Amino acid sequence: MVATGHPVRAEKFVADLPRAHWHDQSLWFIRTKRDRAAHSLPEWETLREQAAAIKANTVAHLADYLEEFERNAKALGAHIHWASDAAEHNQIVLSILQQHGVTRVCKSKSMLTEECHLNPFLERHQIEVIDTDLGERIVQLANEPPSHIVLPCIHVKKEEIGELFHKHLGTDKGASDPKYLAEAARNHLRAKFLASEAGITGVNFAIAETGGFVVCTNEGNADLGASLPKLHIACMGIEKLLPRQADLGVFLRLLARSATGQPITAYSSHFQGPMPGGELHIVLVDNGRSNIVGSDDFRRSLNCIRCGACMNTCPVYRRTGGHSYEATVPGPIGSILAPSRDAKKHATLPFACSLCGSCTDVCPVKIDLHQQLLTWRREIAVQKYLPWSKRMAMKLARIVLGHVWIYRLAGKVGRFLLPKLPRMLVYNRFNPWGKQRDLPPMPKRSFRELYRDRQRSEKSVR
Ligand code: SF4
Repeated sequence: MVATGHPVRAEKFVADLPRAHWHDQSLWFIRTKRDRAAHSLPEWETLREQAAAIKANTVAHLADYLEEFERNAKALGAHIHWASDAAEHNQIVLSILQQHGVTRVCKSKSMLTEECHLNPFLERHQIEVIDTDLGERIVQLANEPPSHIVLPCIHVKKEEIGELFHKHLGTDKGASDPKYLAEAARNHLRAKFLASEAGITGVNFAIAETGGFVVCTNEGNADLGASLPKLHIACMGIEKLLPRQADLGVFLRLLARSATGQPITAYSSHFQGPMPGGELHIVLVDNGRSNIVGSDDFRRSLNCIRCGACMNTCPVYRRTGGHSYEATVPGPIGSILAPSRDAKKHATLPFACSLCGSCTDVCPVKIDLHQQLLTWRREIAVQKYLPWSKRMAMKLARIVLGHVWIYRLAGKVGRFLLPKLPRMLVYNRFNPWGKQRDLPPMPKRSFRELYRDRQRSEKSVR
């Protein structure tokens, strides 16, 4: 059986060992910043409890809050659209743009539009879409999807960005100074902002009570993109709602600290209806979310505020990179959300987890991530999406553990084999762990014998 899915893609990423180490260290640095920011707030755990309770209440009464939001947003002058899936979402956005004769759009970071593959769809209809978040623009120029939901180009080195900018923006060859490159990007994007005829943004939080919404960025690109042209389209998943304006403070305090260790994002922009003389369209997208609301096991995954903390802490994500998940949202939360859409396609993701529980510990909205990953493993086994080899191994284990005499016999065989087994497992050419390391030559004696010798020599020294 040929291995597929996450293990194969992860193997490609770890084959470049220096990059894998550097990726791991960069994300660990952010994780430690997050820890310092969280520990600086004595009420951190209380905030997490409050956020989880607010989200649980929102999801439990989602239909009511959505209707309340629609009513209040319309009263503020916004147009509301409902999309049941990605195709409908894309079509709605396209029709609005075509009605206004728009051919150039600036878009701020939105994982929902990534999920719906909006960019290629609009480009197929001769509409130029420019991602204005710097990280997103870099991966757009590289023709790649983002590898992280907060740090889209975390897998790219500054020297590679220099090459990319030299090719597309005409910067000096070999230049990799971040300040110089950021300046070049700023000038390039400024021209795109001024030429754009419509702005598309995501939504971090929408407030049912007011009909307004909030977009958080560190670069101010959403504000510029949505304020320069007269037409603003905001695309949001239906789970982005909060019931009351007073709930917002809890989430704003948690979001930036969990994402990057900042006390707050540089820009938390509030939109309350269209700007004077402008037009605001809000597209509310389901795309499989209602099915998750109906699942007792996975409903809590809708609490996610896309901070990325579970990715930064995950030992597997840090060492295998976001592209190895081949899902819009990678990492622990992505390994729960992606199988909810297509369990067969993403069957390997819940198994790309060490079940260490670190993601659950850092999640600001207290999603029991590792428990849900474990539940997905069971689901995938029940739906028979496990590879043949794993199914056979499980069946064998059931037979051995179900019969006392087979269990005892296996024990006897095991006692004979076990001293030799660790050596065999490490020193064989199929062992991916051993392939990546400079192993010492294979010892002639078993590990157990070597260990006993060492214990004996330590005793005699004492
Ligand atoms: S699951 Fe939790 S930690 Fe992960 S991105 Fe969502 S909110 Fe952040």
